[in-house]
Amino acid sequence: MKTYHHHIAGEWVEPASGNWIDSVNPASGKAWCRIAQGTQSDADAAVAAADIAFRRGPWASASARKRAELLHGLADLLEAEWETLVEPEVRDNGKRIVEVRAQFSGLHVWYRYFADQMLAIEPADLENEVPGVSNKAHYVPFGVVVAITPWNSPLMIAAWKLAPALAAGNTVVIKPSELASASTLEFARLVSRSNLPAGVINVVTGLGAEIGSALVRNEKSRLITFTGSDSGGGKVAQAAAGGVKPVTLELGGKSPQVVFADADLDNAVNGVLSGIFLSNGQTCVAGSRLIVQRSVHDALVARLVNRVADLKAGDPMDDDTQVAPLANEPHLEKVLSMIAKARREGARCLCGGERIYPDGSPEGFFVAPTIFADVTPSMSLWNEEVFGPVLAVTAFDSEDEAISLANDSPFGLAAGVWTSDQGRAQRLAREIEAGTIYINHYRSVSPGSPIGGFKRSGYGRELGPDAVRDFMQIKSVWNGTLPCADPFPPQAG
Ligand code: NAD
Repeated sequence: MKTYHHHIAGEWVEPASGNWIDSVNPASGKAWCRIAQGTQSDADAAVAAADIAFRRGPWASASARKRAELLHGLADLLEAEWETLVEPEVRDNGKRIVEVRAQFSGLHVWYRYFADQMLAIEPADLENEVPGVSNKAHYVPFGVVVAITPWNSPLMIAAWKLAPALAAGNTVVIKPSELASASTLEFARLVSRSNLPAGVINVVTGLGAEIGSALVRNEKSRLITFTGSDSGGGKVAQAAAGGVKPVTLELGGKSPQVVFADADLDNAVNGVLSGIFLSNGQTCVAGSRLIVQRSVHDALVARLVNRVADLKAGDPMDDDTQVAPLANEPHLEKVLSMIAKARREGARCLCGGERIYPDGSPEGFFVAPTIFADVTPSMSLWNEEVFGPVLAVTAFDSEDEAISLANDSPFGLAAGVWTSDQGRAQRLAREIEAGTIYINHYRSVSPGSPIGGFKRSGYGRELGPDAVRDFMQIKSVWNGTLPCADPFPPQAG
């Protein structure tokens, strides 16, 4: 079985505890590798390495142009060798190989985009009314950034954090999920072959409550960027508050897909299917609540049920697999228990709703794509994130009712609106409380478009035109050219 160590200051380092965590392949139910179970002393070593790299050596003295060149060098390696990273991620989290390939073939783009964005950031002249003094805003990095990532898309989400943080001149310690760390460690192997100085990117692994929390509390870590559940995010924000550290939180969602009767229904069917069943619903923007106008409710739902009935479950390493396993066994149990609860609360299961055992992967953690109708806002299926292949459907009659149902959620990450009426689409885009609105379209992400949540989906934004600046702080520099007036001039007499 493959063993992965921490990657600190360019070296592979054993966990101080001597303990390891098995990583289980969700398609087979069997452990395929083990990762270091990091503890406080590993966290301290990684932050110290990142702090030294930030303060001394070639990274500290590198100009923005030099950093951009180094990041483009890393991007070149990623562009040439991304395929080597695919299998470890599929083995760890069970995502379909076709989806992982699609993500990884574009990984280099995030690094290139933010390297170039940094080049446009210049000190800015600030207005002031003091005679003989100029004032400039200088944008400077924070220092050590701690990046904590979830198991669903570890390397892509790491890129969203690393690329702008590094372009800004910070150094980083990444803590991937204990349930899917291998691809981030393989990425570290690639990093060590790039020209980035040792200590600029460090990867440590282990449990959130152990090494994750130690990284957040370490006094030399200066900014925390977290993607994960709302409960994990709340704990991280509390710990960061103790050290007065800025945090960005990219958390969960329960995103509505609102379909009007005037929508192109072929398009809407594809958009709703991709919203909830790609990656098995294990994506933050999963469109897990379908809010559909009553006159097309039965027809739309029948088409969705028909389409999922034919999907082929199997090994995520096979190109033709359409339904992959859920990422891990505790998650399988959670999804099954939420399905059972939805039934108890009176939702009507139209398809799926059970564990399945595909040929060739009988021990895998598979759940059939599931659609529930008659889901009401009082039900847990309406309010709680399943993070699985479970769609909750309800009908509406008026536009106002659709908006109110869409907003009736503790979360506010994304929303889809399907209609041929642009005026209505724009009204919904204005009224729906979510960080991203998709109109007749779903799920795109791009370096130039900010992503983040309203309400329990978090705060702060990732990506977008300000992403690099989000990893910098402003230093206001005053520069006097006139003699300073004596504040205590000699008094007469
Ligand atoms: P999680 O909160 O269990 O874990 C996320 C990461 O946080 C892991 O690395 C974990 O070890 C660490 N962690 C947990 N508790 C911690 C603590 N007290 N201190 C420090 N670190 C801690 O989430 P998960 O199950 O890995 O991921 C799924 C969740 O992530 C879903 O809710 C999903 O919606 C969300 N997500 C959000 C986005 C987004 O961009 N908004 C993207 C992907 C996933």
